[in-house]
Amino acid sequence: RVKASGRGGVGFFDDELRAQLLAVRELEEALALGIARGELRLHYQAVVAVDDERVLGYEALVRWERPGHGLVPPADFVDVAERSALVCDLGREVLRQATSQLAAWSASDPVAAGRNVGVNISGRHLASPRVVEDVREALAGSGLGPHRLVLEITETVLVDHETALERLAELRALGVAVAIDDFGTGFTSIAQLQRMPADILKVDRSLAGSDDPADAQLVRLVVGAARAAGLEVVAEGVETSAQMDALRAAGCDAVQGFWFHRPAPPGDRAPGLGPRPAPLPALPRPVLPRP
Ligand code: C2E
Ligand code: MG
Ligand code: MG
Ligand code: MG
Repeated sequence: RVKASGRGGVGFFDDELRAQLLAVRELEEALALGIARGELRLHYQAVVAVDDERVLGYEALVRWERPGHGLVPPADFVDVAERSALVCDLGREVLRQATSQLAAWSASDPVAAGRNVGVNISGRHLASPRVVEDVREALAGSGLGPHRLVLEITETVLVDHETALERLAELRALGVAVAIDDFGTGFTSIAQLQRMPADILKVDRSLAGSDDPADAQLVRLVVGAARAAGLEVVAEGVETSAQMDALRAAGCDAVQGFWFHRPAPPGDRAPGLGPRPAPLPALPRPVLPRP
């Protein structure tokens, strides 16, 4: 870009860069304030067993109720938080809310008491020594048993950082479960799965929610490798009954996706599955035009 702007374009480039940096700084400051003011909200999406379609638990997904901006999705602010220690404040708050919410649902509902909650942990938070204390405090504060908390860590974080692997081992020693998130988007080899200190493998939507038969074949391979490594498999982003059938055939243990449940703000009761759209009637076979 510097080259394209040519001589005399450098000033323009500087201005543009300065404006971008300023925007990021402003967002960071607004987010820091927003977290302190309690503007973070969690939505919950059910994780559903493949065999009998019962709800196994929920994934907690953060949103920012930013005054004047509506409900901001994580894609618009988590990366910015990740640039600084702010992401640790965010992570601590999400852990606290998610564990308290599941504990509250469980207090009035014995069915919910058998479910777990997944929390996304950023790479930077995982790298910080504080993360173990943050998890411990969230569990102690909510009274939730450690086995009911699943920490979701994206695949890319695990491949790059040896410290992340050590930290995961520490966290698992607390009794919490670990899920490798977004599997299939990074470069983890199937061989590396063996040495991952994890319990669950979440296959990314780009693979699991695909309608391409070649991807279905890949999911089958991944399930086989996960089994060999002792991991349970959750498929993400299931939107149709056809995808669901393919994932069942591939041997996935659980699924998550709009087909079953859309992420929603918490109500008084732990969410179950609502009615789903009836499958489309089978279309008559297309008849080839006769010559
Ligand atoms: P993720 O952890 O892989 O979460 C799944 C995302 O897929 C969520 O998007 C969810 O709403 C979406 N999703 C679920 N089912 C379907 C489906 O059937 N179709 C489609 N198209 N999408 C589906 P969301 O809530 O926008 O979150 C995006 C990402 O932001 C998450 O991906 C996660 O990486 C990150 N994130 C969310 N909450 C947190 C958090 O509390 N902390 C951190 N560090 N990251 C978070
Ligand atoms: Mg996740
Ligand atoms: Mg994911
Ligand atoms: Mg994903």
